[in-house]
Amino acid sequence: MQKVRTRWNYFKDRLIDRYGEIVYKIGVDAGFTCPNRDGTKAYGGCAYCSQQGSLSPNQDPNLEIKDQIKKGMAFVQRRYGAQKFIVYFQSFTNTYDKPEVLRQRYESALIDDRIVGLSIATRPDCINGEVIEVLKEFQKKCSYFTVELGLQSAHQNTLEWVNRQEGTAEYIQAMKLLREAGIPVISHIILGFPEESLQDMVETLDLAQHQGSAGVKLQMLHIIRGTKLGVMYEKNPFNLYSMHEYGEVVLKLVERLDPKVEIHRITGETEKEQLIAPDWVKHKTKFFDWFENELEKRNSYQGKTFESGPSFALAKE
Ligand code: SF4
Repeated sequence: MQKVRTRWNYFKDRLIDRYGEIVYKIGVDAGFTCPNRDGTKAYGGCAYCSQQGSLSPNQDPNLEIKDQIKKGMAFVQRRYGAQKFIVYFQSFTNTYDKPEVLRQRYESALIDDRIVGLSIATRPDCINGEVIEVLKEFQKKCSYFTVELGLQSAHQNTLEWVNRQEGTAEYIQAMKLLREAGIPVISHIILGFPEESLQDMVETLDLAQHQGSAGVKLQMLHIIRGTKLGVMYEKNPFNLYSMHEYGEVVLKLVERLDPKVEIHRITGETEKEQLIAPDWVKHKTKFFDWFENELEKRNSYQGKTFESGPSFALAKE
């Protein structure tokens, strides 16, 4: 029996409301690269970006898209009895190519009726008018369709520290195009950058919510082997949040978040073998349980301190 959560707007619960069962995401590597990796903006990518992309180790990026999907579906079907799926274009920048290439790759994911939709991960500077037209075509074909946009931080010094090679101006412009097209956006936010205060993270969340994000993914800054951040950290370790420090930040942000905004993630997700630090990120369920208990204990809930009205984010447009 699925637990009914009343204190926060968890994305997985909303999928159950909509489809009557748990819907599983199947991550794929569709063969895209990224302007921050191929030299268009920079080489090597963001400091936390892994060479393998963010794909699950159960996946094989060398397979065709349809075969990655079949493999992923078979795995979660065996393990959880899954019947419905969202194909998640996960690795690298999935709007970074010509419209005809995007069309062909997205189309190749719609292999049968068990796939209820697509989720397309990308970066703000890879959203433009031509891309929007393709996204709109696929939104019409799917009952679920979202774009996942990397914001990470609203603060330029942080974005420079991780070599993001874009800023809030690109995010605001991409959000405007997506909003006007009626395409729901999930904004990715990284919490716990060493130089950021709670107020800085609040400002990042406010930017995401006031720009009209339908959902947010909150992620603890964690250090992965083989990344630039991994090299920096091993040479010169910097402070990373403990589970409780991080938890306090998440509780504050969730209280501040509009109850309508779905929360897709509250912590990081990475392979145990690839993780350098902090170790607690491996124990996702432990954090999840702690978070739910604390909400209960403190009589806290999403939106408790939410303030609607004009925001610093829209004022900048
Ligand atoms: S934008 Fe995404 S894919 Fe590109 S380098 Fe940064 S993390 Fe990697």
